[in-house]
Formats: sequence, C-alpha cells, structure tokens
Amino acid sequence: MSDERLERPRKPIRCPKCNSRPVARIVYGLPYFNEQEAAEVDAEKIVLGGCIITDDDPAWQCVACGQEIYRTRK
Ligand SMILES: [Zn+2]
Repeated sequence: MSDERLERPRKPIRCPKCNSRPVARIVYGLPYFNEQEAAEVDAEKIVLGGCIITDDDPAWQCVACGQEIYRTRK
C-alpha cells in the first residue's frame, strides 16, 4: 500500500504506479453478488471494499500492487 493519493477522472487501463493491469473497480457494501458481478470478481475486475463507506473512498484498486485510485472530484 502506498500513502500517495492518485486521482483519475475515469478508471485507468493500467495502474499509474506500477503500470500493470488490470485495475479493479472497488465495490462497497454488497452483501452478495449477482452472477455477473461474481464473474467479474473472478476476473479480477472487482475487489471488495467492505461495508464501511465514507464520502472519500477510492474507486479503483490495482490488482498487482494494491494502489488505490480515487475518482477526481469535480
Ligand atoms: Zn499497481
């Protein structure tokens, strides 16, 4: 984990830090998955962010290095 805050306006294809892929979408607060989401978890497109949601949570996370990426605020 890094304490460097990275922001992007949309989900990057590659990790801005280590340049690997995929970058997963972080999903919060889901008690269970539907079939499509379960498949996306398997494909490492989704990581679980837990149920505690603040107003400043990262939107994406690098599967390789764990770098969290925030959505750029408007
Ligand atoms: Zn990375």
